Amino acid sequence: MPFSGSGIHGRRGSFRFGADCGVFMDFMKSHSCYEAVPTSSKVLLLDTKLQVKAAFLALVSNGLRAAPLWDSRRQRFVGMLTITDFINSLHCFYRSPLVQMFELERHRIDTWRGLAFQKVYLKHSHHGLISISANTSLFEAVLMLLRFKIHRLPVLDPESGDVLHILTHKRILKFLYLYLQTLPRPRFLDQSVLDLGIGTFSDLAVIQDSDSLFSALTLFVQRRVSALPVVDQQGHVVGLYSRFDVINLAAQKSYSDLEVTMTETLKRRTCFIEGVLKCYPQESLETVLQRIVQAQVHRLVMVDSADRVQGIVSLSDLLQALVLSPAGINALLP
Ligand code: ADP
Ligand code: ADP
Ligand code: AMP
Repeated sequence: MPFSGSGIHGRRGSFRFGADCGVFMDFMKSHSCYEAVPTSSKVLLLDTKLQVKAAFLALVSNGLRAAPLWDSRRQRFVGMLTITDFINSLHCFYRSPLVQMFELERHRIDTWRGLAFQKVYLKHSHHGLISISANTSLFEAVLMLLRFKIHRLPVLDPESGDVLHILTHKRILKFLYLYLQTLPRPRFLDQSVLDLGIGTFSDLAVIQDSDSLFSALTLFVQRRVSALPVVDQQGHVVGLYSRFDVINLAAQKSYSDLEVTMTETLKRRTCFIEGVLKCYPQESLETVLQRIVQAQVHRLVMVDSADRVQGIVSLSDLLQALVLSPAGINALLP
């Protein structure tokens, strides 16, 4: 039932689950990362001597969202390259539509990362690759993804150290969802996401449809959010722009003009989902889980009955609530 109201204030963390709350935590503790890895999976490794622009084009042409970085001199992995890094480099090097971004061609991954660590871009990042051994539990994988605030977790073969797969929140939640019918059904699945306090309801990062694409990139850099609801002048949600969508700019080589409006930016996407996938505050956790897993998106935009943005329910919030909160861990604290 649609919710109508003027706003919901910071209830994250106030989970009220009851006695049967540990079902999903126990499930994740008893299954290893191996079990969530597909039988066949493509992993691209990038040498840090590669030019930045070529590296992002390699991601695009392989249909991938991220790649571990290999330092051939030190003979070890030194980090990841993700779409966030593409956003950071565009934000750093962009001047105006009239000035070509030569730095994207001039910099290699290692020199760009050196610069990004000095500037704001990799301020919160870790020097080195965050990874997990395939025989470690999925509970640990969730903990690492949320605690380090990353979206890509390489799974390593315990014997060879090879990267087998790059685990994501989506893959983990889908794995849990596949087994849902076989597990005892906790009563909190019937409670509303609002009552359970699952999601972010205050200090939301949103972008106006008339704002520029560069403003959206600035919000990604400053707020470190994974997506921005796009709103019109009345505050109604009209679109969703996620970090993933920025890769369209690399695919279309259309990043020379970042002054275009968000309305135009949304129209120019080639690979996207029609409309906005939403949820309402009074909808049950089960309904929200089903919708987000089936739609294969990283978050739903919570709206009121007039389509005004009330919150974000992301896979991070769901995994926190289902898997970590029962263990008394809050990994989403700033
Ligand atoms: P995206 O949502 O764009 O895929 P992430 O949120 O995973 O990106 O990445 C945020 C930052 O953390 C990026 O600079 C990325 O290079 C870094 N990062 C992501 N995953 C890892 C990892 N497993 N090890 C080290 N750094 C990572
Ligand atoms: P990732 O797989 O990198 O986590 P996302 O789920 O953020 O990617 O985005 C994949 C695609 O789905 C993007 O085109 C994005 O705009 C779209 N998308 C994600 N969430 C929503 C949503 N709630 N409503 C509409 N489109 C969405
Ligand atoms: P995510 O990066 O989507 O995995 O989510 C990490 C945390 O950021 C979650 O608690 C989300 O609810 C929150 N979050 C995601 N997008 C936004 C946004 N646009 N504004 C505010 N918080 C957000």
